[in-house]
Amino acid sequence: MVDTWTPAAELGHAMASGDASAEEITTAFIERGQAVEEGIHAYLAPTFERAVDEARAADDRRTRGEALSAVDGIPLAFKDVFVTKGVPSTSGSRILDGWVPPYDATVVARCSEAGLPMLGKLDMDEFAMGSSGENSGFGGARNPWDAERVPGGSSSGPAALVAAGGAPWAWGTDTGGSVRQPAALCGIVGVKPTYGLVSRYGMIAFASSLDQASPFARTVEDAAMLLQLACGHDPMDSTSIPDEVPDFLDGIDAGIEGMRIGVVKEFQGEGAQPGVRTRVDEAYKRLEKLGAKIEEISLPSFEYGISAYYLIAPAEASANLARYDGVRYGYRAPADDIVTMTSHTREDGFGDEVKRRIMLGTYALSAGYYDAYYGKALRVRSLIIRDLEKAYEKVDLIACPTSPTTAFKVGERTADPLAMYLSDIYTVPVNLAGNAGISVPCGLSPDDGLPVGLQLIAKALDERTMFRAAHAFERDFGWISSAEGRPPL
Ligand code: GLN
Repeated sequence: MVDTWTPAAELGHAMASGDASAEEITTAFIERGQAVEEGIHAYLAPTFERAVDEARAADDRRTRGEALSAVDGIPLAFKDVFVTKGVPSTSGSRILDGWVPPYDATVVARCSEAGLPMLGKLDMDEFAMGSSGENSGFGGARNPWDAERVPGGSSSGPAALVAAGGAPWAWGTDTGGSVRQPAALCGIVGVKPTYGLVSRYGMIAFASSLDQASPFARTVEDAAMLLQLACGHDPMDSTSIPDEVPDFLDGIDAGIEGMRIGVVKEFQGEGAQPGVRTRVDEAYKRLEKLGAKIEEISLPSFEYGISAYYLIAPAEASANLARYDGVRYGYRAPADDIVTMTSHTREDGFGDEVKRRIMLGTYALSAGYYDAYYGKALRVRSLIIRDLEKAYEKVDLIACPTSPTTAFKVGERTADPLAMYLSDIYTVPVNLAGNAGISVPCGLSPDDGLPVGLQLIAKALDERTMFRAAHAFERDFGWISSAEGRPPL
């Protein structure tokens, strides 16, 4: 029997030594996923038969001594924002209902080239706009720690499935926090890599200057491995970084003796729930015990991050979403003329939050308001980048909570968009600056017994330092491998 809480790296060893086959491993994750689906609603389109076929092919390759990678045969799942050849891809929107892409996203293709069987496509907030999963056009995933609560968003399905042991790892996207925040709320690891490290080709666009493919896993090492498989230059994405990619696992065990870690003055005190503060303060002490030097740093522009993000992201979204006209993709409303058809398609096909963003973005970009809103937001973005550059002169990494609260109740924030937007207060500056960030579990809140995430932020292309610190923390803490690190589901 394969234990579905086993990290992917260990499953790789088990396959190499002949203790488990890819088919056994894949079947175990399928069965676990099926057993928990009623509670978490993670799947939009399972592809279980295909996954078993792919696992058998991996076993054949291994028998012939032709394994494609150390993890050839270990299955994964994708947020439905990635296009998958021959498999419906909706980005959580009814407007794409019925659309079957003719090609694979680069991330999908590269994972397939490494031999990873695809378990299926997972639920998400519509077009990745949201922080709870509730904006999905197809239901909404739930948190495996408490089915009355949200898993976070917008990568709601992947976070819920990995946290419930239904997949060892999965791909989401993080535009303003959509992988780190749900990882924190579900008690798993989520990584937002440097902008441009992973190709955006075939990722259904939300805000193109911020969108970044981002892995979920149960351990830091697994997250680093999954990221490694997909990154590297892609000529199909002009923003993909042409540099050679470092080996993220090389030196991951080196510890953090002497590393300088800054805690953000402006994020101390008010803002986060007391239970979140308690666990994050303990995490800082643990980092110090492991040899890091903790210093207080000031990032004054961070408090404007949310305001700038909610102008820049909707502005880009309003342009990106213009392509859904009922002619080329998915849903088409019946009508006698094209103007009525397009307007009815968009009226019926988009949900409320997406319409709100299109209106906000169009307004922010319109003549007469452009300088006052969009232009100003871009200037704040420059200030955030400058503040971070100054901070990195003093410290190697920045630490803060990932989310100000633990998982909230379904329905609690749906009537108040601003309350929902504030979920991203600690994550959006990282996207605006194009830096890297990771959320790693730091225990359960004493207030409500729900997971809390510690965020570590690194300068662009310094993922290795970030992984090294997160790995040292995770190993010393030992929570994820303990019974306490598993949801009661
Ligand atoms: N919650 C944020 C938003 O709604 C971030 C989303 C994301 O990272 N995709 O825009």
